[in-house]
Amino acid sequence: MTRPDPETRIAELEAENRALRREIRVAHEAAEITAHKVIEQFGHTDEALQRLRATSGQLKAVLDAATEVSVVACDRDGTIRLFSRGAERLLGYRADEAVGRLSVLALHRDVELAEAGRALTGEAPPRGAVMKVFEWHVVHGVTGLHEWTYVRRDGSTFPVNLAITALPDSEGEPGGYLSVAMDLSWRKALEARLEHQANHDPLTGLLNRRSFEEALEREAARTDRYSTPFALLMFDIDHFKAVNDTYGHFVGDDILLAVSRMVSQRLRGPDTLARWGGEEFIALLPETSLEGARAVAEDLRATVPGTRFSRPGSVTITAGVAAHQAGEPAHALTKRVDDALYAGKEHGRDRVVTA
Ligand code: GH3
Ligand code: MG
Ligand code: MG
Repeated sequence: MTRPDPETRIAELEAENRALRREIRVAHEAAEITAHKVIEQFGHTDEALQRLRATSGQLKAVLDAATEVSVVACDRDGTIRLFSRGAERLLGYRADEAVGRLSVLALHRDVELAEAGRALTGEAPPRGAVMKVFEWHVVHGVTGLHEWTYVRRDGSTFPVNLAITALPDSEGEPGGYLSVAMDLSWRKALEARLEHQANHDPLTGLLNRRSFEEALEREAARTDRYSTPFALLMFDIDHFKAVNDTYGHFVGDDILLAVSRMVSQRLRGPDTLARWGGEEFIALLPETSLEGARAVAEDLRATVPGTRFSRPGSVTITAGVAAHQAGEPAHALTKRVDDALYAGKEHGRDRVVTA
């Protein structure tokens, strides 16, 4: 069985996400149209909201069927007037606890309301200014959904795609608000997991080659000629094929994992270690001279064989080091450090060679 590769999965998810955003936009528009229809038919906000809250047949059926979507309407003061079944499920309140009793404020994070309010008024609004914030949503939400955070009854939070519509009163002023929100949490969690898979090596959990190359490109672009250069350290386990051939692949895997852990522990916080391929590893050492990198490599070369395994006892490594030169492209630096490592192998292994 082949697993889809993470990047393909992420692209698929992004496409799905776009489709879902379209769907919720349609749902939102439907809710909005329905709300306006109700208003047209029954007069202005108070009555309309009563109507929305009541078992207005079709609307309630539509709202309750959408269990992934929370629909909440409130009046001008923020008192909740309508609470759909999806809202019950996602937010943890029963409709009869929420309607007429709960302020819509309880469903939002203060910090986000404050930020949104600041965007609107230039300063953090007092708590009661929530309606101004909703107005801000209406102004900004008209052209599209935006991501927001909802607060559950138990105080935990979750990400949603949110759209808010004003319900006009008899003067055409906002007399209340209708919010339609879709839960994004499982999707976010899945995306984060796939993103992690796309950037990390499954055996050691280290960054993979592709994501290391990105980090290297960034570092090469960031470093200017006046700062201390950064350095690369590449090492390869000696005669590893023989380890696999003699003791089997699983023993080989255990050794790779142990070596990667040991080296991670010895490097400094700002250093980046990655699995370059097979039994080759590479580290980016920021703000490190060639001599500094050589000292780190010598330390590893001396320490790795000290890690004892039941089979084959221990392993040695050969390392190459190179310091970035002003203006040098990342791939040229990688080539130099790879050549240095190769020279170390040629000269008998278990040694450090500087480029
Ligand atoms: P040298 O001293 O010249 O580096 O010799 P070597 O045998 O270590 O080098 P070579 O490149 O010929 O072989 C590397 C071996 O590493 C081949 C493969 O069996 C092993 N290897 C690569 N990836 C993995 C892995 O994920 N797990 C295990 N167990 N072995 C791996
Ligand atoms: Mg090797
Ligand atoms: Mg190798």
